[in-house]
Amino acid sequence: MPQDREIAELARLIERSRQAVVFTGAGISTESGIPDFRSPGGIWTRMAPIDFSDFLSSEEARRETWRRRFEADDTWRNAQPNRGHRAIAELVRLGTVAAVITQNIDGLHQASGIPAEQVIELHGNSTYAHCLDCTRRYEIADLRVGFERDGTAPLCEACGGWVKTATISFGQAMPLEAMQRAEIETRAADLFIVAGSSLVVYPAAGFPELAKRNGATLVIVNREPTGLDPIADLVLHRAIGETLGAAVGVN
Ligand SMILES: [Zn+2]
Repeated sequence: MPQDREIAELARLIERSRQAVVFTGAGISTESGIPDFRSPGGIWTRMAPIDFSDFLSSEEARRETWRRRFEADDTWRNAQPNRGHRAIAELVRLGTVAAVITQNIDGLHQASGIPAEQVIELHGNSTYAHCLDCTRRYEIADLRVGFERDGTAPLCEACGGWVKTATISFGQAMPLEAMQRAEIETRAADLFIVAGSSLVVYPAAGFPELAKRNGATLVIVNREPTGLDPIADLVLHRAIGETLGAAVGVN
C-alpha cells in the first residue's frame, strides 16, 4: 500500500473507533532520544541488567544500579515528548483513546499531557523512586545529592527500607494492578494500536493478541517487522511520530 493510503486507512480506523487503546514500546521514545535498552548496541547488550534478587541481597548491586541511573540522568531529564506522544495525547483528549498501555519507563506520555490514571505502566517508571517496603516516594535529584556525597545506595528515611527507581527489574514480579487494568482496557477496545514495540517481551506482548481475539481491529506501527504482523489488520513499517502525527493531524 502506498504511504499516503496507509495513513488514510489508519485515520479512517481511528475515526471509526469508539474506544481505542494504544500500546507503546521503546520505538516511540527513541524518537525523543531515549535509548532502546534491548536493541543491538543498546545498553543491555553491553552491561548485563541487574537482577532484582541481587539488588535485594547486595549493597554492591544496589550501588551499581544507582550509579547507572545517575549516569543516564542527563538523557532522562532532557527527553521531551515527540510528535508521536503528542498525537496519542490528542486522541486521549478527544476521548477516542481510553488508555495508553506502555512498556516504557520514561514518563513521556504523562509529560505529553495524558492524565496519569490513563497511562498503564507495565514496567514501572524510572523518573522517580520509591521505598520497596513502605512505598514512600523519592525524587531522583534528591537521591543523587546523597549518593554523590557518601556513595552509598539510598535508604528510606521513614522505615530504613531499600529505595529503588519505580521500575520493574528483571526478576521482579509484573505489577498486578497494572496488568489487570491493561487486560480490562484491552478487552473493552474496538481498536488496538501498537506503536513502537517489537512485541517480543511477554506477558506484555499478549495484549495485542488478546485484543485481536476479542474482535478488535489491530494496527501495528513499528519500523521493524513484528511477530504479530501476520494477524494485524494494518501494518505500517514507519517512524511513529510522522505516522501518528499525520493520521491524527498533529504536528
Ligand atoms: Zn520506607
